Amino acid sequence: MQLYNSLTRTKEPFVPHEPGKVSMYTCGPTVYHYAHIGNLRTYIMEDVLDRYLRYAGYDVKRVMNITDVGHLTSDADSGEDKMLKGARREHKTVMEIAKFYTDCFFDDCKKLNIRRPEVVEPATGCIGDFIRVISGLLEKGYAYEAGGNIYFDTSKLRQYYVFHNFEEEDLAVGVREGVEEDGNKRNKADFVLWFTKSKFDDQELKWDSPWGLGYPGWHIECSCISMKHLGEYLDIHCGGIDNAFPHHTNEIAQSEAYLGHPWCKYWFHVLHLNTTSGKMSKSKGEFLTLSLLASKGYEPMVYRLFCLQSHYRKALVFSYENMENAKTAYRKLAARIAALRPEGEIDRAVFEEQRAGFARALDNDLNTSLAVTALYDALKAPTNDATKLALIRDYEQVLCLNLTEAAQKLREETEAPAADAAFTQKIEEMIAARADAKKARNYAEADRIRAELSAMGVTLIDTREGTTYRMEGQGNV
Ligand code: AMP
Ligand code: ZN
Repeated sequence: MQLYNSLTRTKEPFVPHEPGKVSMYTCGPTVYHYAHIGNLRTYIMEDVLDRYLRYAGYDVKRVMNITDVGHLTSDADSGEDKMLKGARREHKTVMEIAKFYTDCFFDDCKKLNIRRPEVVEPATGCIGDFIRVISGLLEKGYAYEAGGNIYFDTSKLRQYYVFHNFEEEDLAVGVREGVEEDGNKRNKADFVLWFTKSKFDDQELKWDSPWGLGYPGWHIECSCISMKHLGEYLDIHCGGIDNAFPHHTNEIAQSEAYLGHPWCKYWFHVLHLNTTSGKMSKSKGEFLTLSLLASKGYEPMVYRLFCLQSHYRKALVFSYENMENAKTAYRKLAARIAALRPEGEIDRAVFEEQRAGFARALDNDLNTSLAVTALYDALKAPTNDATKLALIRDYEQVLCLNLTEAAQKLREETEAPAADAAFTQKIEEMIAARADAKKARNYAEADRIRAELSAMGVTLIDTREGTTYRMEGQGNV
C-alpha cells in the first residue's frame, strides 16, 4: 500500500516496523462537548484506514486516548481548560461531563460503523505514566522547571519543527492565538508538560507529583498512552490536520527525546470538513452533530457515504445540497442491490478482477472515492447476481455502509404491500362466498367461512349495508 506521510510530504510504500503487524494510534476526542461532524469525518477516514489494513491481512492494534484533562482553549498551552469550561457551562463536575460526552462519542461511532479501537484510555487514568516520562525528560535535560510548571525545552532538539516550515521568530504564539505569552518559557515554542501554576487555578482535577499538586499538559498524554500500549515504535499516528502543529510536533519532540530514537514512521492527517462559511469548531458553540443531521432526514450511513466519496487529503465542504446528493446516491445504490437475486455460482475470475480494482483504489493512499466507484463497477460487471452480491459483501468489510441491510429493508417495504393486497383480496373473496352461501340458505357453510376468517384474525361485522370486517389489532376496514 502507498500512503501519504505528512512527515516526509510524499506518498511512500507502507512498511510496518514488524512484518504483518500494524500499531496505530489515534488522537481521541476532547470530551467537553458533542463531537461535530467535522471531528467525525476524521474518525470515519481513520476507520477506513484501520479496516482496510485488516482487510489487506495485517494484524492491527489500535489505541485511542480520551482527553479529559489538560487541553486548554488554546492549543499553545494558554487559556482555560476545555473540560472545566464544559463543566461550568452545564453546572456539572468535570468527570460527569467526561463520562457523558465519551458515551455520546461512542454512540455516534457506533451509528457510523466506526470500529472501537482495541484500547481506549482516558488521560486521567494514566497520570502515573505521564509523571514517569516527564521525570525521564527532566533527567535527560530535555525539560526544565519554571514558575512552578515543567516545560519541554525545544532548543535541545536538533530539529523541532516538523510538518510546518515555521521558524521560531514567526511563531508569535501569543499574538497568533490572541492570548498572553507565558513569560516562563525559555523559547517561544516550549510547551508545558506539567502545570502546578496557571492563571486558572481553580482546575478541578489535580494530582500529586514530584513537582507539586497539578495536572498534565495535553501533548504528553498521547506520547505516553501510545508508548504504554504500542511500545517504542509506532507505525501510524492519525489525527485531523489541525493536530499536526503544535500537538503532533510536540508529541514527536517528547517521545523521541525520551526514547532516544525515531518513534513514529507514518503520519496520517485528515483534512477538515468546513461549512460554506468556514471552519467548523466546537468552541464556537453552534455546530453540526450527527443527531442534527438525522433529525433533518440524513441518516448516519448517508454521512459516511458522503465522507467516503472524497479523498481524506482534500478539504470537504458541508452543505445540505451535498447531503441530499449523498442521500439520493445511497438510496439508488440500495435499490440496485435490492434488485439482485443471489442466484448462480460465483464467477471467480470476475470476482478477483473486480476485487483487484477495489484494492488498487485503496492501496493508492486510501482513495475511498474510487473504492465507492468500484461498487458501481461491481453492479455493472458482466456477471451474474451472485458474483455481484459477493463483491458488495466483500467491499462492505471496509466501506461498512450497511448497503445489504438497506437493500433488504427496501425489499421488505416493497414486498409487504404486495402481500397485504393478496391477503385483502382473499378476505373479500371469502366474504363474498359467505354471502352466496347465506343467500342459498347454506348456513352451515356461511358459519364455516366465518370461523375460518376468525382463525385468520378477521372478525366479520354484518351491517345493513353489507359485511365489513376488523383485523386483530386494527380498526374496522
Ligand atoms: P478534538 O475533540 O477537538 O480533540 O478533535 C477530535 C479530532 O477531530 C481531532 O483529530 C481533530 O484534529 C479533528 N477535527 C477537529 N476539527 C475538525 C474538522 N473541522 N474537520 C475534520 N476533523 C476535525
Ligand atoms: Zn493526540
